[in-house]
Amino acid sequence: MESNGRPVVMSRTCGSCDEPLEIQEALYLVEVVRPYHDTTNEQRYHRHTNLATQDYVHSPYFFHESCWDDILLRLEEELSEHQFVADPDPRSTYTCRCCGEGVREEELACLETAGRFRVSSRQPNNQPTAAFEEMEEPRVLCIGCAIIINTTFPEFDEHPLWVNLQEDKECRGCTYSRCWRDASCDCECHRP
Ligand SMILES: [Zn+2]
Ligand SMILES: [Zn+2]
Ligand SMILES: [Zn+2]
Ligand SMILES: [Zn+2]
Repeated sequence: MESNGRPVVMSRTCGSCDEPLEIQEALYLVEVVRPYHDTTNEQRYHRHTNLATQDYVHSPYFFHESCWDDILLRLEEELSEHQFVADPDPRSTYTCRCCGEGVREEELACLETAGRFRVSSRQPNNQPTAAFEEMEEPRVLCIGCAIIINTTFPEFDEHPLWVNLQEDKECRGCTYSRCWRDASCDCECHRP
């Protein structure tokens, strides 16, 4: 990793294999967001942060392209093994790029952005820095798929990517069924 003879400081590692990420390498940024369209119908995303501290509630991760592709391949196998069929939702504005399930405006989801780190022209302390550059329009992955990745893949057993991935403190079954959409769920998890 060299830029005009100076080494570039890159301390980030891949969320899957934990190997360091290189400048110019094809990567994916995967983060937990609430996607929405603004008043000009532009697609935007609320990063899921704690309003008081501005910290991420769920950390964003970078993956090598091949590592993330492998995760999605195994996710596909998992879905076909369980003969998953998406439930059409006319009020959804997004479609999960893996399972086809709908995602409504402002619902918790994952966002996958293909890109790469480039040496930034900003050089605080005369040290070259790296900035992530988006290469494609980001794609949405539904919360159900994110939970499958998080809970069934052995590499995340000890260190899950995201803890408590849920819309609003509901149980896992309610998250999968998106019960908040019709407010008629009488599952125990909603009782105080
Ligand atoms: Zn990797
Ligand atoms: Zn999905
Ligand atoms: Zn429940
Ligand atoms: Zn419920």
